[in-house]
Amino acid sequence: MPEHHTPLIATIAAGLALAFVLGAIAHRLRIQPIVGYLLAGVVVGPFTPGFTADIPLASELAEIGVILLMFGVGLHFSLKDLMSVSRIAIPGAIGQIAVATAMGAGLAHLLGWPLAAGLVFGLALSVASTVVLIRALQDRHILDTDRGRIAVGWLIVEDLAMVLALVLVPTAATMMAGGDVPLTRMLFVVLVTLAKVAIFVMLMLLVGRRVIPWIMHYTAQSGSRELFRLAVYAIAIGVAFGAAKTFDVSFALGAFFAGMVMGESELSQQATEEAMPLRDAFAVLFFVSVGMLLNPMVFVEAPLAVLGAVAIVMVGKSAAAYLIVRAFGYANRTALTISASLAQIGEFSFILIGLGISMSLVPNEARDLVLASAIISIVLNPLVFALVERLSPAHGPDVSEPAQDIVPTRLASHVVLIGYGRVGSHIGAELARSGTPVVVVETGERAIAQARHDGAEVIVGNAASPDILAAANVAGARRVVVTTPEAFEAGQIVEQARAANRAVEILARAHSDAAVAHLDTLGADLVVSGEREIAERMLERMRE
Ligand code: AMP
Repeated sequence: MPEHHTPLIATIAAGLALAFVLGAIAHRLRIQPIVGYLLAGVVVGPFTPGFTADIPLASELAEIGVILLMFGVGLHFSLKDLMSVSRIAIPGAIGQIAVATAMGAGLAHLLGWPLAAGLVFGLALSVASTVVLIRALQDRHILDTDRGRIAVGWLIVEDLAMVLALVLVPTAATMMAGGDVPLTRMLFVVLVTLAKVAIFVMLMLLVGRRVIPWIMHYTAQSGSRELFRLAVYAIAIGVAFGAAKTFDVSFALGAFFAGMVMGESELSQQATEEAMPLRDAFAVLFFVSVGMLLNPMVFVEAPLAVLGAVAIVMVGKSAAAYLIVRAFGYANRTALTISASLAQIGEFSFILIGLGISMSLVPNEARDLVLASAIISIVLNPLVFALVERLSPAHGPDVSEPAQDIVPTRLASHVVLIGYGRVGSHIGAELARSGTPVVVVETGERAIAQARHDGAEVIVGNAASPDILAAANVAGARRVVVTTPEAFEAGQIVEQARAANRAVEILARAHSDAAVAHLDTLGADLVVSGEREIAERMLERMRE
């Protein structure tokens, strides 16, 4: 190290490098990379010997990850979506928080803590982590489905409730310390907080909705990509920060609204997606920062308490969410997905418990319990999702409620068209015109609607899953056309399709020479690279 002190760079360097190495090892061992990221945090954390990264800085970096993630989610949300899920998300989230808080308070009582400690502890166990939830939904391509939107709406209500909790905890602490806080005063605090949130939302909807898209279009016209990306980051982080500082709204909520407002125009939404690569790196730092806080001794010292807390997070909360969603008449699969996505805790829990400790409301060991249950629930979350897949028919439709079981196609010697976006929809429309039998596999709601509108049979689900490919009868198909843009996923699809049918002709789309080679090896018969075709067409014209 040079003499000057650079804790920020040290934290980013150690966090990213170690997360990369351990994430890669985890991947190699076929466990989720998240385990590697969390372990990286434990290694650079204060409870293990050697280098110790800066915890407050790591948490702030993680917060940037939360901001960018929520901004990205907001891009896919419209005000209408938000309204349409509020009917279930508001009572659902509130009901679930109440149940989880009661259970947490019960556990705290068993541990001999006072009621106030139990309430803060229970609240901390009741909120899900934004990062974990969004990543889980993204990985499974369900962010854009009804159940995905309900889960996100639910998360937003939880976020709002936490904003309230954060202002109420200090008041509660005063009360506990013997100070007399009249009920009217507490009510006042709540009302002021809600009013601030409402003013922020109104400002975003009335002013932001005009100004932000205007800025984006103006910047897009400037023709400078650098300026455009800068505008995206400036707005995402700037609005989140301003919202937090001025209106006491959480960073996550601020960023979500900024994204929602920016996403209203198709142009800025698409372009913005391209400008978000920083998001994933910061999201990784979130896991590192969680690992850093963990005191591994808690597993030895209080195993039963940890188990109790984990049970509340993973079983109690899920059961409550499941029952609430079912009570609202939603399908089994929807209820299962929502409870799975919420069966974990994260960043808000740490903030809340930290506040409780600083106000001497909760004992120090509460932090270790919350962290331990966060880590366990985060690590086990994918297994919970796998269980859900098992419990509910693996490929129920994502879009329409109530869910019906997926109907495997009866077509044979048909074309299986995977993806109905910019590329697939052109192919599908042409096949429809020529009367070729085609089965479309899609996850995106808009694309599904378009495919149905064009008269195609649609199987809803992730084409990387063998069940979905089986439902599309790849084994009996004449051609499989993979138009999804992401190389890794296209590779999986090609590999599965080839495994299901040795003779079928597989066409695939790629963006780089490396991807072309990759898909070739996995068994594609023809790989078309967009960039190369574009060059060909231009050359063709120049030869004319
Ligand atoms: P585009 O890049 O505009 O051609 O759009 C690609 C389309 O593929 C989008 O509509 C996505 O919803 C869809 N898509 C991407 N990955 C998958 C997948 N694994 N399974 C099914 N559809 C997918």
